[in-house]
Amino acid sequence: MAAWVEGHVIERIQWTDTLFSLKVEAPLLPYQAGQFTKLALEQGERRIQRAYSFVNPPSSPYHEFYLVEIPGGELTPALSALAVGDPLLVQSQATGFLTLDEIPAGRDLWLLSTGTAIGPFLSLLTAGEAELRFENLILVHGVRKGEELSYQPLIAALKSQLGSRLHYVPFVSREPWPDAMAGRIPAAIDSGALQERVGLGFSPEQSQVLICGNPEMVKATQLSLIEQGLTKNLRRTPGQISSENYW
Ligand SMILES: Cc1cc2nc3c(=O)[nH]c(=O)nc-3n(C[C@H](O)[C@H](O)[C@H](O)COP(=O)(O)OP(=O)(O)OC[C@H]3O[C@@H](n4cnc5c(N)ncnc54)[C@H](O)[C@@H]3O)c2cc1C
Repeated sequence: MAAWVEGHVIERIQWTDTLFSLKVEAPLLPYQAGQFTKLALEQGERRIQRAYSFVNPPSSPYHEFYLVEIPGGELTPALSALAVGDPLLVQSQATGFLTLDEIPAGRDLWLLSTGTAIGPFLSLLTAGEAELRFENLILVHGVRKGEELSYQPLIAALKSQLGSRLHYVPFVSREPWPDAMAGRIPAAIDSGALQERVGLGFSPEQSQVLICGNPEMVKATQLSLIEQGLTKNLRRTPGQISSENYW
């Protein structure tokens, strides 16, 4: 049985009405960039628990989570109400396979996310190993509205550190937004618009693609990438497509 430890909120960032980040202090076991753990709150006799990915690199002295409050959701409204100093339960052992040690060698690392699922990719990029293993790092983030493009200061810092090796491509589906692509990620792969924007194509020899977030986007993007000649990355049969569904 996984152990639960008590943590405390040490900082809260409110990005929009529903998007927020919690920085938490808690004595967790070591974990890898790209992994997730569980957060929980006791509600009466019940412990309500859900999975959340780390945004921070594992070397950081705190643990950071990026969340969306789901109206009527069982846990997120209560997590959203937490203030600095409040306690919460954290599972001490992280898990998850969206980690670089599961990813074969390649030249280009594509990180395709929707909504809060940009979190594990920020962890991977700030941990520093991705830039040692891959020449090009492509961070793609799909949201509905421009205001949901959170973590711009961190992305700007990564851009100034990595220069032209980091390609950041925001997608905003419900309104025009400066520098963002319109529509959805799989459609832009099918049309070639994403590859054209980045200046790189997909190929089994050079691409490794991690996909995270909305299960419909994950499924549609997998199909689009298979059309481009890539295959799923499984432990027994290494390929180029690795994914994690958030629900
Ligand atoms: C491996 C893994 C990692 C995850 N990491 C994160 C994370 O870092 N940040 C995060 O916000 N969520 C993350 N989730 C989702 C999270 O575990 C919860 O499902 C979510 O917070 C909803 O909890 P709830 O109890 O409020 O809603 P529930 O009452 O459980 O309602 C669930 C419904 O909310 C919707 N939903 C769930 N998650 C999201 C989401 N992220 N964006 C939009 N709609 C959603 C879906 O329609 C889902 O059916 C992760 C899930 C998994 C499996």
